Amino acid sequence: MTATAIVWFRRDLRLHDHPALHAALAAADVVVPVFVIDEQLLAGRWASANRAWFMRESLLELARALADRGAPLRILRGRPAEVLPALAANLGVADVHATRDAAPYGRRRDRAVADGLAGAGIGLRTWPGLYVHEPDALATADGRPFGVYGAFRRAWDAAPRRRPLPAPDRIPGLPGPGDPIPDLGRPSADPALMPAPGEAAARQRLDAWLRPDAAGGAPVDGYAAARDRLDLDATSRLSQDLRWGLLSPVEVVERAAGPGDGRRVFRAEMAWREFYAHVLWHHPRLLREPYLAALAGLETRHDPDALEAWAGGRTGYPVVDAAMRQLRATGFLPNRARMIAASFLAKHLLLARELGEATFMRHLVDGDVASNNGGWQWTASTGTDPQPFFRVFNPVLQGRRFDPDGAYVRRWVPELAGVPAAHVHDPWAMDEEAQAACGCLVGRDYPAPIVDHAEARARALAAYGAAREAGRRPGGG
Ligand SMILES: Cc1cc2nc3c(=O)[nH]c(=O)nc-3n(C[C@H](O)[C@H](O)[C@H](O)COP(=O)(O)OP(=O)(O)OC[C@H]3O[C@@H](n4cnc5c(N)ncnc54)[C@H](O)[C@@H]3O)c2cc1C
Repeated sequence: MTATAIVWFRRDLRLHDHPALHAALAAADVVVPVFVIDEQLLAGRWASANRAWFMRESLLELARALADRGAPLRILRGRPAEVLPALAANLGVADVHATRDAAPYGRRRDRAVADGLAGAGIGLRTWPGLYVHEPDALATADGRPFGVYGAFRRAWDAAPRRRPLPAPDRIPGLPGPGDPIPDLGRPSADPALMPAPGEAAARQRLDAWLRPDAAGGAPVDGYAAARDRLDLDATSRLSQDLRWGLLSPVEVVERAAGPGDGRRVFRAEMAWREFYAHVLWHHPRLLREPYLAALAGLETRHDPDALEAWAGGRTGYPVVDAAMRQLRATGFLPNRARMIAASFLAKHLLLARELGEATFMRHLVDGDVASNNGGWQWTASTGTDPQPFFRVFNPVLQGRRFDPDGAYVRRWVPELAGVPAAHVHDPWAMDEEAQAACGCLVGRDYPAPIVDHAEARARALAAYGAAREAGRRPGGG
């Protein structure tokens, strides 16, 4: 009798190093690849036109690659817990194989699917693939989850890694064409400014990141020194590829091995991604609450105008505005720009962190609930290993340090194109004559700062200080 298995693709849209696909191939004579268009995700709390577009384009390429190898992709639409068990029962499969998901929604969904399949005597078998080490694989010496990144990274580095698997040459599927992949709408960002979707483009990005130049050094080797510079493209730009599983993190880490600070720091950043997945796995409440209970009572402000100015890149602080405009135009932000923009919302504007978190998730092609929540909680000083609350990024100094000539700001805030480097991060500090001379009158051509840095800093320190005091009192926090 022919044994049939389903491989259910989700955020693992690749053929290289795909343990679930290999397991299905080992267990069955016929492998049916399936993707479910999940309305809950497309319309839910974290919906994003940019991610929907990138996912669909990547899926088109995956469907071609699967069909080329003999297994046309089936597309289902609806709730996975309803549509998958129905198809699996229809095909008479023994097992459905999938890459293990770690985020709270994915875990709930998979439990519901497993229950639905069990009713028909079918198993849901999940395999690693999204992380080098599964979020529940590492623990402290006394068996607890890590709450400190440094200790997590040391354990993560020391744990043995599995070997990456090759892409299969042939996948024996069912005859016939695959299902059409529905149009999921246009992205809000400009596709010409977004990384090319699909596994092949992701692999080219990884190759380029690791390819030595004539002098023998690869871009990754310069990472430690230049990664925070906003005016240089000195990071890997692999985040959407890891988010959508176009690349295997095991392969990325394996291939980035080697001596030197660049490679060491790059691997350490890959570990941040896994640290935040680990933290959210153990504390799903973080999508609703601060990690630090003492800050649960932090009094944030209600100020829709300030939120709108921040989200639209009109705060009057050039580096913050450049960041938010880049985010909207491209669906991406470098890490330093994410920290500066997030800090401005949480500290300078004293708005609820969740508002910024949701704005980022709406735009980011790499939007990932664990990394995004971790980054926001860190910046808002409420998370694991928090940024100390009394440290409030000064956007002018951050701009001068990480965009010394103002090239980044001028690229995204064209109103400031003519402002000399000395004042491109604080145009209001020029007198009116100088402003007129460079074609940028503050308050007319470019907004005046919506808050004063020193006042906003004092307001944030007072609010954080009060919340900590209240949290420390018996019965508080
Ligand atoms: C407020 C805030 C929100 C963020 N939201 C997300 C998000 O939704 N999705 C996301 O992938 N990253 C997020 N990050 C982390 C980081 O900013 C991006 O991963 C990084 O900028 C992507 O660019 P890159 O691929 O060139 O990264 P590189 O600097 O080349 O790093 C390599 C890879 O390591 C991982 N990584 C690097 N830094 C971090 C970090 N601080 N936290 C977690 N993973 C990291 C990413 O997968 C990245 O692709 C957030 C950071 C902050 C401060």
